[in-house]
Amino acid sequence: MPDPMIHTIAQIIEKLELAHLHREVLEPDPKTRSLLTQAVGQYAAEFIDAIDTHKSFDARWDTLNYDFFKLDTKPISLTEFLIHFQSDVQRPGLNPASGGHLGYIPGGGIYVSALGDFLAAVSNEYAGLFYAGPGAVRIENSCIRFLCNTFHYPESAHGCLLSGGSLSNLTAMTTARIARNIRARDMESQVVYMTEQVHHSVPKSLRLAGMEDMQVRIIPIDAQYRMDMEALEATIKKDIQDQFTPAILIASAGTTDTGVVDPLNAIAELAKKYHCWFHVDAAYGGMFILSALTRNLFEGIAEADSIVVDPHKGLFLPYGLGAVLVKNGMHLHQANRYKASYMTDAQDHTEEWSPAELGPELTKHFRSLRMFLPLKLLGIKPFIACLEEKIWLCRYFYEKIEALGFERGPYPELSVMIYRAIPPSGDINLYNKQLVELLHQDGRVFISSTVLQGQVWLRLALLSFRTSRYHIDTLLDMIQKALKQMK
Ligand SMILES: *Cc1c(COP(=O)(O)O)cnc(C)c1O
Repeated sequence: MPDPMIHTIAQIIEKLELAHLHREVLEPDPKTRSLLTQAVGQYAAEFIDAIDTHKSFDARWDTLNYDFFKLDTKPISLTEFLIHFQSDVQRPGLNPASGGHLGYIPGGGIYVSALGDFLAAVSNEYAGLFYAGPGAVRIENSCIRFLCNTFHYPESAHGCLLSGGSLSNLTAMTTARIARNIRARDMESQVVYMTEQVHHSVPKSLRLAGMEDMQVRIIPIDAQYRMDMEALEATIKKDIQDQFTPAILIASAGTTDTGVVDPLNAIAELAKKYHCWFHVDAAYGGMFILSALTRNLFEGIAEADSIVVDPHKGLFLPYGLGAVLVKNGMHLHQANRYKASYMTDAQDHTEEWSPAELGPELTKHFRSLRMFLPLKLLGIKPFIACLEEKIWLCRYFYEKIEALGFERGPYPELSVMIYRAIPPSGDINLYNKQLVELLHQDGRVFISSTVLQGQVWLRLALLSFRTSRYHIDTLLDMIQKALKQMK
């Protein structure tokens, strides 16, 4: 029998009391809450204290307890959960928090930032609209302002904090398309320029943003893997001659493969001369503008129409924070503005920009707190010092690896470099693949490899704040051991 449509007040109160019992499970009492928080705090403390005694990479995936991953089982205790978390989540694969993570682009994950996430989650403050969360929105906007100032952007600039560089690149490309009013019907006459060294999230963004039918010109690179300026201008001139419209120029400020910065000043000049949207993907390298050692590489970046930077790389935050900055903030607003009848209360408040009008999200994670809290408590100096330590460590490795007879790529501009072993005879690529395999089996520190113009190279990518000389010396030791094994 279905419930009758109309209940008496007594019946309704009875139902409410039943529901209340369940609510108590979701809102633990103070004692339970404190025990839960303590257990997680204890786990975190032990994890960090022992971080250098664990492998950075563990290639054993086979011992996973598959029952742990099922959700249709009966509830378990937090103690039991943490045991599985350690053995089935934390141990296998890569340990991205480790100072021995020297592959891809690391970052680390500073503890104070995790506390920011905790506060953001517990308070569940809403950082989408100024009128609902004026404090949270001011924190969001303050982080954006900090980043804009870092790149010497004018007051008119604004930006949006997103989950990472990929969504930031997507937002930049969408903004460029809307700002330049590139319609579907014009797509095939519009040209976008980049090198083969651009991060794959850029072409992926073009696809996601419906811009795949644009003409894509892959500009040759010079011996340092940077965009070749003569080739760029020649290509643009030819396009104009052929009745195409140069539209978007994409530079990298710190490429993923070799860590080099494209000649931003020269590209900026061409962008101006040929009326292109100038985008700089500085997801990896951007924060190095803060160091006197590398600042000059970024000259011209303030001319960019849009910049992407990843605080979860260069500010060592845990995964989940990238930023897109747009020199003329109105373009970002134009791309993300909306009208909705249920939002009218919010739209009378214009004292501050609302993040929901500057990015694709509405109900959003209060993600600025994970950046704001550490900068507020620690200041920027320790961050710069750690970035510089990575620069020096990279130069240290560059010298040390030559002594082991390795061929090296260009001198490191930032904190990524490539190198490869040259065997006495046989296939060089195969030899280096075997070497990487052995290094992964060892796993004390983790490195990755790449393929450049058909050649296999090993990469060293330093950006975890936890990485010290200890990890570099460990890598050198691992390499020597692996070479002996291969003899
Ligand atoms: C890491 C990276 C990206 C992608 O950013 P995610 O945060 O991984 O989404 C884009 N461009 C460059 C240059 C990068 O290093």
